[in-house]
Amino acid sequence: MAKRIVILGAGYGGVRCALTLEHEAKKGEVEIILVNKHNYHQFITQLHESAVGLSDERDIRVPLDEIFNGGRVKLIKDEILKIFPRDNSVILEDGNLDYDYLVVGLGSEPEYFEIPGLEQYSLTLRSLNSAKHIKTHIENNFAFYKNHPLHREFLNIVVGGAGFTGIELAGELADWVPSLVQKYDIPKKMVSVTCIEASSSILTGFDRHLVENAYRVLQDKGVRIITDIAIESVTADEVRLANGEVLKSRTFIWTGGMRANNIVSQAGFSAMVRGRAKVNQFLQSVDYPNVYIIGDNAFITNPDTGEVMAPTAQIAIQSGYIAALNILAEIRSESPQIFRPRELGRVISLGRNVAVGKIGKKYKTKGRAAGFLKEAIQWKYLYSIGGLKLVAKKFLK
Ligand SMILES: Cc1cc2nc3c(=O)[nH]c(=O)nc-3n(C[C@H](O)[C@H](O)[C@H](O)COP(=O)(O)OP(=O)(O)OC[C@H]3O[C@@H](n4cnc5c(N)ncnc54)[C@H](O)[C@@H]3O)c2cc1C
Repeated sequence: MAKRIVILGAGYGGVRCALTLEHEAKKGEVEIILVNKHNYHQFITQLHESAVGLSDERDIRVPLDEIFNGGRVKLIKDEILKIFPRDNSVILEDGNLDYDYLVVGLGSEPEYFEIPGLEQYSLTLRSLNSAKHIKTHIENNFAFYKNHPLHREFLNIVVGGAGFTGIELAGELADWVPSLVQKYDIPKKMVSVTCIEASSSILTGFDRHLVENAYRVLQDKGVRIITDIAIESVTADEVRLANGEVLKSRTFIWTGGMRANNIVSQAGFSAMVRGRAKVNQFLQSVDYPNVYIIGDNAFITNPDTGEVMAPTAQIAIQSGYIAALNILAEIRSESPQIFRPRELGRVISLGRNVAVGKIGKKYKTKGRAAGFLKEAIQWKYLYSIGGLKLVAKKFLK
């Protein structure tokens, strides 16, 4: 009888897993069910562009039935509420689902570290809707300022966190300012973009050379970068820092911490840092061997170096692929593959057509070439998610 494989989440990892199963499984071998709260996949890696109005719905959302139109993957659009791994079942808003194998790829949610006011007063960048919210919020603030010129805090934008999301966003915001001030007829010198980071450097974990380049590019664009100082509290109109400085601002965007989706913690899987579930080298939960955990939900280390892998789209795609192959191997009583994450490179965009990057060990660049590289990586994601069909469709758009 066909084994039922339920995949939770149609993000980078979940879609890759379902596509691999669809492609590799023999007829009648498995039943593949993919559950997601929306009927589309989102290219989260491009959201910083949507927050300033550069990419729209067609760039960010890909309907799932365009990706899976072969018929082997059954799509369920529903909210996942709880996983009961002991009972091999998942509770959805509209019913229950039992499984033989489960793949958990529910992505991340913001981590607020119990900083007073942070959750209540910050905007976040997690979906197209949240990106649109940031854009509208900033535009409304600029419009408000025109009629209330004593309230400079409406023109100050603060980004909390200088990892790649915060840095990419700060770069886009800085490039957006000239057109914003023109639209609302406000002197440019009245507007500020500030990025705050608690650790001693921006882009922690990145090559020093790239960090220095990024720092210089952002400063040239007028971004104020504050490092080594934690945020103490946030209110509707100010951000208080641990050194006593108070930044008056009506726009605070939090990118400084992510943790695994709460559903993963609630399922009772043994967890490591920030709720990420512990997996063995084959990506099986250490608690339940018929549950595979992928992407941002898993605490993944490189088995050869012991390095803890940062949660990224590349790792999510690779883990979704290997989880699919290992489930099939188990069903066929074959040997599973050890998951060896490969980081193909890192490219960070710093606004329009500027980026810093490193591909392999050798190639370092900044400027337009890196901007094109970033674009190429987005195309690669598109290919991994939707194959040539989607690449061609987007290219011809
Ligand atoms: C702004 C931003 C920029 C980034 N840029 C880069 C980059 O340039 N390069 C890079 O490698 N990484 C980048 N990342 C990180 C990358 O996006 C994540 O590591 C990646 O998306 C993780 O993939 P995933 O499959 O684990 O989860 P996700 O892609 O987050 O997918 C999770 C899926 O689960 C669904 N879901 C969640 N909860 C439920 C529920 N209760 N019920 C039903 N469905 C649910 C969601 O709708 C989503 O479809 C960026 C992240 C952000 C936020």
